[in-house]
Amino acid sequence: MDLAFIFTIGACVGSFLGVCVCRIPEGKSIIFPRSRCECGAAIPFWLNIPLVSWLCLRGKARCCGRQIPARYFIIELLTATLFAGLYLSYSLPNFIVGTIFCSLLLVVAFIDIATMEVYEAMVIGGICIGLVASWLVPGWQGEQFRFESMLKGVFGMCFGSGLIFWIAVLGEMAFRREAIGTGDIKVIGMIGAFIGWKGCLWAIFGGCLLSATILLPVLLGAKIIKKEKFKLPREVPFIPFLAVGSIAYVLFPQTLTNIFF
Ligand SMILES: [Zn+2]
Repeated sequence: MDLAFIFTIGACVGSFLGVCVCRIPEGKSIIFPRSRCECGAAIPFWLNIPLVSWLCLRGKARCCGRQIPARYFIIELLTATLFAGLYLSYSLPNFIVGTIFCSLLLVVAFIDIATMEVYEAMVIGGICIGLVASWLVPGWQGEQFRFESMLKGVFGMCFGSGLIFWIAVLGEMAFRREAIGTGDIKVIGMIGAFIGWKGCLWAIFGGCLLSATILLPVLLGAKIIKKEKFKLPREVPFIPFLAVGSIAYVLFPQTLTNIFF
């Protein structure tokens, strides 16, 4: 019963995150106005129930039959599942920090997928939230005292963004073009502020491993099938991979630490 309740809360938060992903890149307010369909019709609350409405409507708007992007449904489902997973692994204060961290990651990752951009004001806000959360909930960083916990966050932030900065410099020397954007450096800073330097290492190497596992077969496939049929994007958003790496670390810190260290 408890878990169903947390799942529902997660779905509702996911619904809000979907709105953020849509509106932040357009510079619109994330609170007002209420949700509207692209045709301009207001969406009544009973057609705006997370997960359920999209499934009942089979992804088509009631007012005009327009396709409702599956992205909304996916974000709601991911958020709900993550909230349930965090609830099973953490005590209440840690659970709250975990949900904030995962929500920030989801928004940044989905905006990166949609626009290939990072909204820096939001990420810097995220860094501050991470440091304050480490101060308020030292247990989240596995510490007993506030000062140590925040220090861990600060060190994680510097370590992560420093490491990726040097990877970016080397990448630029090797490939003669920008391999990692400054936005990515800040996102890693945010990850470090929340989960420390070990978490950062996991986010970066887990993310690289995952992207290589997915992209290499795709690249090879494209070589075999010939290029005309199959257009590859020139750039691939990297933040979703970082997000998956970080979230894996948050959900299974002990298992992943044991593999790595
Ligand atoms: Zn409509």
